[in-house]
Amino acid sequence: MDKLKIAIQKSGRLYEDSIKLLKDCSIEINIGIDKLKTTALNFPLEILFLRDDDIPQYLEDGVADIGIVGKNILLEKRKKIKIKETLGFGKCRLSIAVPKSLDYININNLNGKKIATSYPFLVQRFFRERCISAEIHEISGAVEIAPGIGLADCICDLVSSGSTLFMNGLKEVETILQSEAVLASHIHLNYPKNLIMDKLLFRIRAVKKAKNNKYILLNVPNDRLEKIISYLPGIKSPVILPLANSECSSVHSVVNENDFWGIVENLKSLGAQDILVLPIEKIIL
Ligand code: ATP
Ligand code: MG
Repeated sequence: MDKLKIAIQKSGRLYEDSIKLLKDCSIEINIGIDKLKTTALNFPLEILFLRDDDIPQYLEDGVADIGIVGKNILLEKRKKIKIKETLGFGKCRLSIAVPKSLDYININNLNGKKIATSYPFLVQRFFRERCISAEIHEISGAVEIAPGIGLADCICDLVSSGSTLFMNGLKEVETILQSEAVLASHIHLNYPKNLIMDKLLFRIRAVKKAKNNKYILLNVPNDRLEKIISYLPGIKSPVILPLANSECSSVHSVVNENDFWGIVENLKSLGAQDILVLPIEKIIL
């Protein structure tokens, strides 16, 4: 039987979340000591552990069928592959940072500067579009120390909290790209592999949807019921169940994480009581 080959990062920032995503999709894997590849126990999937920079090339060549990699790497490498789904983890931005002491006003301050980065293509394109001429110095790691050791005037690197920049005496001044992990695929998968990928995508979407939503239960005095349910969307509409205390009902619904606090505040002010909020494991519509 055909197996789909998925490439994930061998170690690093995307490793844990990639493995967790597969587990949340109910895919069981045993990771051996050598950690080069492994086979899922209950799904037709072979997992290859690779350096993230190599994943786009392997996907283009068809060595791996699908892979989990940062959008930052995909856009820098420009291989012929397809993005199938954004995954909501590995969030970061590709930003330009300059020494704190530099009086930065706007992007023109970067004219004539030497910039160190592992993303020469994306940086070059950003400057070209803004008619800035800067000298790009490509380095593969520890970019943030480049200004401190006199290798460059400024840098372009990935940032999440900004603490690494701060510790190296730098400040973020321009964002080139917002990035997160994505699931990408080889351009042409054969029919059996495409079917497996669609099954996996179906599970991933159910997991993603569940993560973005909460199950909410509340007790509502019956005379407030109509008003309160108008604030609760639910998947189709809220569930209303009678309580032993005949003056109140129990209302169940599903609320999107982004609207959650606003909705809860409204419900509380309208007289909802005993509000319980539960995580959802999967949502299959
Ligand atoms: P590898 O050994 O696989 O080449 P790496 O050292 O190049 O690993 P990591 O630092 O583990 O890469 O980052 C992997 C990916 O995690 C990045 O390409 C990016 O998509 C994402 N990421 C999220 N937050 C950050 C961050 N603050 N700094 C760097 N990468 C981040
Ligand atoms: Mg890398």
